[in-house]
Amino acid sequence: MAEAIQSLQSFWKPFVEISFFWLAYYLLFVYIKDSGMAQALKGLVSLVILFFIAQVLDLKAIRWVLFHLFQISIIGFLIVFHPELRRGLTRIGQSPLFRMFMKEQRVVDEIVKAVTTMSKNRIGALLAIEREVSLKPYVETGMALDGVLTSELLLTIFMPNTPLHDGAVVIQGERVIAAACLFPLSQSQKLLKTFGTRHRAGLGLSEESDAFVIVVSEETGTITLMTQGKINKDLDEERLRAALVEFYQPPRRREHRRFKFRSPTA
Ligand code: ATP
Ligand code: MG
Repeated sequence: MAEAIQSLQSFWKPFVEISFFWLAYYLLFVYIKDSGMAQALKGLVSLVILFFIAQVLDLKAIRWVLFHLFQISIIGFLIVFHPELRRGLTRIGQSPLFRMFMKEQRVVDEIVKAVTTMSKNRIGALLAIEREVSLKPYVETGMALDGVLTSELLLTIFMPNTPLHDGAVVIQGERVIAAACLFPLSQSQKLLKTFGTRHRAGLGLSEESDAFVIVVSEETGTITLMTQGKINKDLDEERLRAALVEFYQPPRRREHRRFKFRSPTA
């Protein structure tokens, strides 16, 4: 049994490596063929072959010339084909794997932009980002929406004296799914006396779910985070961003928190 596992282990690594190089070679080949770089590459490869022939035959002068010619050709190649190379790198950046990270990055950027703008302008806000525990019961207390999360949408929702500004917004993935929702008020005796119902509702939801809650105070403009019944007060833009980035990291890495939530204080 142990031998079988060992032989399987010795098999999977070369398999992965060969598959990786095969795929990389294939994609590179297709891209080079499509982008018209093939002729120039053929020239470079010819220079390398000639260089090795000169090396084997020990033709020092030819080898010297070819070596320097090759160096110059590489620079020339990079200059002449820089648009194609840039396009290739952009294509890698747009692959599904990278897009996954960019999606979360965009959500973080939009939330940070909206929250800091509301903080500066003393616009009260309450936002909950759903994690594993469904926020459906709270969504049903509000107004259903299904909009792509943008800072403009969040700012519009919380604009004072508008129909949706009262209550909380629920975010699911990349979308704002509801506004004007009611969250359960926390009964915690440990809450600061200065905290009113907006903060109590935020804390209440964080006690009853694993949501990531952000509160912007209308009175003071302060940004407060609440998660799992814990409060982190007076965040600036940088710390808000760090906390959101941490929140969106894969669960295994999130266990070793760099960003500590303080316990509620009296
Ligand atoms: P602020 O610092 O912004 O004044 P606060 O914690 O002092 O916040 P209040 O002044 O009581 O709280 O804020 C009232 C607002 O909080 C309401 O207008 C409403 O938008 C929101 N709010 C109150 N209760 C809830 C609730 N249960 N769920 C969601 N939002 C609520
Ligand atoms: Mg108040």
